[in-house]
Amino acid sequence: GEGLPRPDRTRIMVVANQKGGVGKTTTTVNIAASLALHGARVLVIDLDPQGNASTALGIDHHAEVPSIYDVLVDSKPLSDVVQPVRDVEGLFCAPATIDLAGAEIELVSLVARESRLQRAIQAYEQPLDYILIDCPPSLGLLTVNAMVAGAEVLIPIQCEYYALEGLGQLLRNVELVRGHLNPGLHVSTILLTMYDGRTRLASQVAEEVRTHFGDEVLRTSIPRSVRISEAPSYGQTVLTYDPGSSGALSYLEAAREIALRGVSVHYDAQSSPLGH
Ligand code: ADP
Ligand code: MG
Repeated sequence: GEGLPRPDRTRIMVVANQKGGVGKTTTTVNIAASLALHGARVLVIDLDPQGNASTALGIDHHAEVPSIYDVLVDSKPLSDVVQPVRDVEGLFCAPATIDLAGAEIELVSLVARESRLQRAIQAYEQPLDYILIDCPPSLGLLTVNAMVAGAEVLIPIQCEYYALEGLGQLLRNVELVRGHLNPGLHVSTILLTMYDGRTRLASQVAEEVRTHFGDEVLRTSIPRSVRISEAPSYGQTVLTYDPGSSGALSYLEAAREIALRGVSVHYDAQSSPLGH
């Protein structure tokens, strides 16, 4: 996996959708591992108190482990909490521990509460090609911190009946953060997940998403695959758990699209399908 262009500066992608179970975490860890296998240096920031991304990357995240909570609430340097992911060269993780559940409240009374993650990332000196931030299934201060820190929003959409419901709220939040806190923020990437091409519903939803979002939607969609859902219980991404599986190949291809687009696609508010 070589030969992909590397971005000229760190691309920070916020993986968000306030709906749970749509594939945010799965997408974060597998796209991150795919980019690393393509030769990039990649950091996953686990911003969900559940710590599912940390688990899936085989990173220890019991309560005493230095974590993203310490970075956000106690201003600990990011470099103090980042751990290398074993088995995948160039892949790193800033884990989440359960105390992150309290951060949503604790952040409220802190100075610069929306930009604490941004500051921590700016102070991080290790060279990185990508940072992927796995958001919790809510639009609170943790997600806002991610949206202030990043430029790109990656929205995984599960191909099911209510797929587009609730997206309006997410898009409005992106607009709010763009307007008030981070003018560079935009939805750069939509990824269809758990796609079952045999069902009429899945292809209808995919069609609807493509009509609504146009070029932001990756051509590659991620199939529903047992191998993808098994991998986290082994502390692995599907890329090392079953490298030849359809799930692994589709994430590699989606990552390739992301890498290739990053160098050529520039955001144009005029042609945005998001209606502003
Ligand atoms: P979120 O982070 O949005 O809550 P997850 O990534 O945790 O969603 O995915 C929800 C569940 O669906 C998990 O059990 C995960 O293993 C499973 N899953 C995600 N993507 C796929 C897929 N392509 N095929 C099969 N199962 C999947
Ligand atoms: Mg998750």
